[in-house]
Amino acid sequence: MLNQGLTYMASSKTKAVNAKPSDSGEDFPPFPHKHLLGISQLNQYDIINLLDRAQSMAPISRQPRKTLPTLSGKTQINLFFENSTRTQASFEIAGKRLGALVLNMSVKTSSVSKGETLIDTATNLNAMQPDVIVVRHGSAGAVELLSQKVGCSVINAGDGTHEHPTQALLDALTIRRHKNRLAGLTVAICGDIANSRVARSNLLLLGALNVRTRVIAPQTLLPAGIEKLCTEVYTNMEEGLAGADVVMMLRLQRERAGEIMTPSIREYYRFYGLDAQKFAHAKPDAIVMHPGPMNRGVEIDPAIADGPASVITDQVEMGVAVRMAVLDALIDNGEQSHE
Ligand code: ASP
Ligand code: ASP
Repeated sequence: MLNQGLTYMASSKTKAVNAKPSDSGEDFPPFPHKHLLGISQLNQYDIINLLDRAQSMAPISRQPRKTLPTLSGKTQINLFFENSTRTQASFEIAGKRLGALVLNMSVKTSSVSKGETLIDTATNLNAMQPDVIVVRHGSAGAVELLSQKVGCSVINAGDGTHEHPTQALLDALTIRRHKNRLAGLTVAICGDIANSRVARSNLLLLGALNVRTRVIAPQTLLPAGIEKLCTEVYTNMEEGLAGADVVMMLRLQRERAGEIMTPSIREYYRFYGLDAQKFAHAKPDAIVMHPGPMNRGVEIDPAIADGPASVITDQVEMGVAVRMAVLDALIDNGEQSHE
């Protein structure tokens, strides 16, 4: 059985960072990377830098006039090889709120469907001199490959089952705003861990900031070696949720699994769906998260998804702030290195 606590391999990586929300309007240290390809490339200081920048961007979306001139004159291309509505919209709004010219290219309209390769697409887009390309692709590593072929900054908006770094950043920002800290919390990530880039990026980020992480899933949805990325592994929801500060549910990714890896949806819901009875095992002030899109009645009871502990719409709101922060940090960095 895996539901005993396993060694916390990530703990030696970093020391605790007590992240405090910063006020808006302050200067931030330069972000020392040209691209944002994954959380694995970042250390705790890079992560805190982006979270603090995002915290200062968050109020802008609540203002009557929501634009800053930060990226005026810059061109952002959103290149999505995999279906997405919300992430693409979030990046588009983020770029536009910062004054960038934003172009959306999706796989259906691109010539990839006419046989053009990823590299051809990258080379052609590069010739149009964009300042940043936001890429989503179905294959792990495709975004990094593309970043090697273009002159501008590249942001990974999800590559296969590998990483989704802006999702992990927006999740961390949401947690920090609700709990006023990250270090010392216990975060339980539940469900389809095997197919989830969200789980992977979150485990890397939370591990770097000394957050206790638990994964809870049936054996069939636990990838090999997962214990190296988290503090504890559980196959029983009630046990895994006991005392958790944050409960992060994942979508059952039937399109990636190839076949349904659980005997039936009803049975999955019975053992792993978050309902009031299971949620009662977490701390009384625990919050519930979901990266979307949600399968209501599969991994989460609608009463919980829409209930008082849910911070799911806050995650969506923080997504825009995080993407504004990342765009700003990368473009800032690019300008400084050209001076
Ligand atoms: N895949 C989901 C969507 O298309 C969420 C996302 O884009 O990250 O809405
Ligand atoms: N929207 C997230 C992603 O694109 C999670 C999901 O699709 O379930 O990875």
